[in-house]
Amino acid sequence: MKSVSPPLSSKSLHQVLWPFGLVAVLCTLLLAAGGVAKTGQTYDLARNNATQVRQFAAILEAANAISAERGPANVLMTAEPSRYESLLLKWHNAQARTDAALKTASLTRTLPRDLLDRVTEQLDQGRRRVLAASLRPREQLAYRDVQMAINAMFLAWDNYQRVVLWQSRHMIQSDPAIASVAIRNMTLSGLREYAGRLGSYLIAPISMKENMPLENQINSRETMARIQTLWTLLPAYVGDIGGSADRNLSLAQHYEIARQVYMVQGLALVERQLRDGGELSAMALDAESFTAQYVAAMKPLETLRNQNLAAVVDKFNHRQDQALIELLATALIATLLVGSMSVLLIVMRRRVVQPLLHGAKVIIDLSENQLPSQPMPIQGQVRELQRLYAAIDAVAGKLAEWSTLTRQFEKLAITDGLTGLVNRRNLDELGFKASLSVRSSDVPHLILVDIDHFKAINDRYGHPVGDQVLREVAALMRRTVRDNDCVARFGGEEFAVLIQGNSLAEAAIVARKLRRAVQNQTIVTSDGQALRVTASFGVAGGKNEAWADIIRYADEALYRAKTAGRNRVRVTRTQSRQRHPPLLQNIPLPELG
Ligand code: GH3
Ligand code: MG
Ligand code: MG
Repeated sequence: MKSVSPPLSSKSLHQVLWPFGLVAVLCTLLLAAGGVAKTGQTYDLARNNATQVRQFAAILEAANAISAERGPANVLMTAEPSRYESLLLKWHNAQARTDAALKTASLTRTLPRDLLDRVTEQLDQGRRRVLAASLRPREQLAYRDVQMAINAMFLAWDNYQRVVLWQSRHMIQSDPAIASVAIRNMTLSGLREYAGRLGSYLIAPISMKENMPLENQINSRETMARIQTLWTLLPAYVGDIGGSADRNLSLAQHYEIARQVYMVQGLALVERQLRDGGELSAMALDAESFTAQYVAAMKPLETLRNQNLAAVVDKFNHRQDQALIELLATALIATLLVGSMSVLLIVMRRRVVQPLLHGAKVIIDLSENQLPSQPMPIQGQVRELQRLYAAIDAVAGKLAEWSTLTRQFEKLAITDGLTGLVNRRNLDELGFKASLSVRSSDVPHLILVDIDHFKAINDRYGHPVGDQVLREVAALMRRTVRDNDCVARFGGEEFAVLIQGNSLAEAAIVARKLRRAVQNQTIVTSDGQALRVTASFGVAGGKNEAWADIIRYADEALYRAKTAGRNRVRVTRTQSRQRHPPLLQNIPLPELG
């Protein structure tokens, strides 16, 4: 049979597939990890920015609270004693709001403590001055005392600017992209502060019914110039937010309102008060209506500041959420990618490669006439493999059928149909092979057996009984000799026994044993008649004898047994023809049976 084993240099399926599979999984893993790391960084930055912006917003809220606390302080110092209690309460409430805002701002862990401490100290000092001024009898209260207290409060805000700057620098360092956020909000915070200060410079002399001191006039002009500058800077930063925390108005609309109401009308109000060089004139407003109008004008500025801050915080929180969604989506996709790649490889291995290899092995075994011990596991395979496995099963089934038939044919070819013994052809094959062998265990001896007067049995009892006699004598001889002795039907009523590995004398002993057994066997016919037969035996064989010669010598011995009167054994002793011519010799028989 042609060999199916592959040349040694060829690679196995595993050797070919696994390096590629491994590289594919590794590359997918690297790509996925890269994607996740990238979106992870983006999310980290967005989260950090959002945190920083929220902290910045909290810090600016505290700045605003410090600004806002000055309003009630101003009013408290200059108001009528009858309203003192209620105004004191308002001031206390404003202080509580400032303290709460500062506490929230101080939660920013990175903030240097000493910066905040300095603000608190300055604030305490300002508040003490305000309280002292407010407790002084009105007739003793000088304009200067009020201004000093207010200045002390200004200083608290100025000190606090270092906190604001510190946080904005921190923010810009961690991501320069949010510099504009810092600048815009500081600008708006400054605008609100200076608008407040401008009011303060005016309100104290008005409420004290004094002419405006020169210092205040100068401060007011300076502050107005500063407000104008800050306002000019603002448009560059207002437009780029893209949204507003206020659902009704956009930031641009808030900006426009603030411009109209404060920058035009509010500053005009201040301008009117300052026009006369600070002289109290009949045209000038009283303290209450000035305050009311000025505070109303400042309101849109404050709203713009609040809306902007809220929009910025919203925007950065939204960006953080977006980045988180992107990170989660990327992680999910990466997991799916790597997972499906691995599952694909495992499935390929389990459902395709391994079953194919199994199928291939079974086919190779079949080609070497090895039938599978179990049917192919068709269940659980993919459709294409089910077909392949079914085909392999069909081929295996046919092969099994063929080999059964072949065995039957082989058996039939060597078996005699009547007696079940091996036939002459098989005997010749075995005998010929044994005669050629040099092993002493193969040395052949042949006993030829011929039933005596068999024709008479046929004639007397009929052919079927003759057949029965042949079958029973055959069975008897088969039983009488060893399993590895070959008992054959030699033809007609003649049989042959091939004995290997024994001496001629031993073969003769077997022949005598057989003769006795045949003689003693009673055969009962189907109609109840008992009969006996005898047979004659011729024995020959030995080392270096040709098979044809062995048959000839055994036949010759059998002939002598017949002529000597039948029912006896005769042996032909020979010597190797290579050394001597064949020597035929009668061996005197001992007593029969
Ligand atoms: P001998 O003692 O000299 O051997 O006498 P024999 O009658 O046995 O010898 P012979 O050769 O004259 O006759 C053999 C007979 O065996 C002839 C034949 O009809 C018969 N015979 C051969 N084969 C079969 C068989 O298969 N069945 C039956 N019933 N008879 C067979
Ligand atoms: Mg005969
Ligand atoms: Mg005969």
